Amino acid sequence: MARGYDAQAQLPAGDSLHEACGVVGIYAPGHSVARQAYFALYALQHRGQESAGIAVSDGATIACHREMGLISSIFDEEILGKLTGYIAVGHTRYSTTGSSAVVNAQPLLERARFGDVTLAHNGNLTNIDALRGELDAATVLQASSDSEVLAKAIVQAPGDDLVARIRFVMGRAEGAYSVVMSTEKALYAFRDPWGVRPLCYGRFPGGGYMFASESCALATVGAEYLRELDPGEVIRVDGDGLHIDKPAQPKPQALCMFEYIYFARPDSLLKGSSIYMARLEMGRQLAREHPADADVVMAVPDSAVPGGMGYSQESGLPYVEGLIKNRYIGRTFISPDQGMRARGVALKFNPIVELLEGKRVVVIDDSIVRGTTTPRIVKLLRDAGAREVHVRITSPPIIHPCYLGVDMATHEELIAANYTVEEIRVKIGADSLGFLSRDGLLKAVARKRGEMCLGCLTGEYPETYNGPPITARETVAAAP
Ligand code: SF4
Repeated sequence: MARGYDAQAQLPAGDSLHEACGVVGIYAPGHSVARQAYFALYALQHRGQESAGIAVSDGATIACHREMGLISSIFDEEILGKLTGYIAVGHTRYSTTGSSAVVNAQPLLERARFGDVTLAHNGNLTNIDALRGELDAATVLQASSDSEVLAKAIVQAPGDDLVARIRFVMGRAEGAYSVVMSTEKALYAFRDPWGVRPLCYGRFPGGGYMFASESCALATVGAEYLRELDPGEVIRVDGDGLHIDKPAQPKPQALCMFEYIYFARPDSLLKGSSIYMARLEMGRQLAREHPADADVVMAVPDSAVPGGMGYSQESGLPYVEGLIKNRYIGRTFISPDQGMRARGVALKFNPIVELLEGKRVVVIDDSIVRGTTTPRIVKLLRDAGAREVHVRITSPPIIHPCYLGVDMATHEELIAANYTVEEIRVKIGADSLGFLSRDGLLKAVARKRGEMCLGCLTGEYPETYNGPPITARETVAAAP
């Protein structure tokens, strides 16, 4: 890409998980759907910051604008003013397959025999080579993403209508895909049969429907949340209203557990229940499993804050804002010089010395991936005067990579795949270290093991993943 500088990846504080994308679909005659899609994508910006786009149909033609960069830098009044119509499809992207280039930005626009189609995809297909091999021999692929293969597979699939074509491809595609797409006259939304990535929908009080990766996008533009799409469900919206098509044989659900732990905004709902409350409960459960003899509790902002509050409530230790985050540093495209980079996490977080000096501190974070950030956080707190630093993590150790659309790390890079909890404690320089247990996590989110993907935590992936088997060496892990 003309990517410039990926601060999230290059800053030392970038030891985090990256989601694939956020998607939005709106069918609302009489509304300014491009503007609604813009603000909805703004609410989903945390899911991807590389590129974004909005396609709008006026019933006869589809106009699309997509570029590299953040929503705020891509769209202005003039561009939004040209996107007139009553059906919108929007996308904000973090690339996990396909290069980070504008040709891979979405929504994609396909010229099909039956008309134009635009598509926005969140997830990662795991059998892209097989799907690509089934495309017409004359197919020219412009992009390098799995999303383009998915779009072409759908428009080339047999079937009397688009729902039949989608169903045909659903029988062949493996992996994760939550999709919104439209023709000139209708909006479609569907989820892969395992429901790995989220997708919900709601309606506008005055009429019209909206689909989004997270309910926070619905709330932002005033749509009333109705529910999460079921795995394998296909919904079409047209002039006659909503048409729901359920899968004939539902598969076991495998919603990504990291939506609860990290990806989703805390003000979003998943299956109708609050992400914030789930994270609060993770913190409470963590306090029960790993108490600490300490003076204060704090969290690494922002995603670990509800967990920190929960730990504080359960333990009775006071919660303090020990670190203040510069919320915009991860959005810079200006490369820091060597000296600034050496400042490490200090570029991203400032400690409040007055709250930490002489204190025994419990610090809550949501995950340890490579283990590059946590030692810097521990050092920052010690340098600010903390007498002891006890690290508590609101997820179990990540011991396997993700093959379903989350940019995580390789086995070699994952610290918990290669070291025991005690070895990690020594490496990060903490006085103690505790991870939430798998059972504790499931209890906190009130979900059963069989309805979640826990692949990176257990090595047991949902049946949609048919990749290489996990080897014996890879399963030597430090799981509690
Ligand atoms: S392997 Fe982990 S990150 Fe990937 S979908 Fe499953 S739970 Fe989510």
